[in-house]
Amino acid sequence: MFPEEAVCEAKLSEVVWPNGPRCPRCGTSRVYSLPHGGKFNCLFCRKQFSLRSVTVFRSTKLSLRIWFLAAELFLRAHARSRARTLLTEERFAKDLGVSRMTSRRLLAVFWDDLAREDGGELGRVLCMHDRTRHPEENSS
Ligand SMILES: [Zn+2]
Repeated sequence: MFPEEAVCEAKLSEVVWPNGPRCPRCGTSRVYSLPHGGKFNCLFCRKQFSLRSVTVFRSTKLSLRIWFLAAELFLRAHARSRARTLLTEERFAKDLGVSRMTSRRLLAVFWDDLAREDGGELGRVLCMHDRTRHPEENSS
């Protein structure tokens, strides 16, 4: 699993910024990190950003650990069946120990992100992590 927040963050960073941080506005890698809170500043356009702010994870204040855990639960349920009703808000909220509203938001993000052709940010983070898939799961 994902033991620590810092490990999750490093993993995410590898997926989102394989060649180091980039400005989300102008795309340059000429950025510098600010001393606190994992923020960066763009040297050219002055945009301030963080790793989270350029990913789907910006939509809640949940820790990345919870996000990754949630994504894994979601993918497992999804691998078994394509029915959207399989993983209900209540069930998801209970498994994760989050509110129903948070659960709903997470599910919405997952459907959206994981439907992307590249697997989405979450899909790629988890694939890099440890997913060994059965061939029939890849045939979709
Ligand atoms: Zn910039």
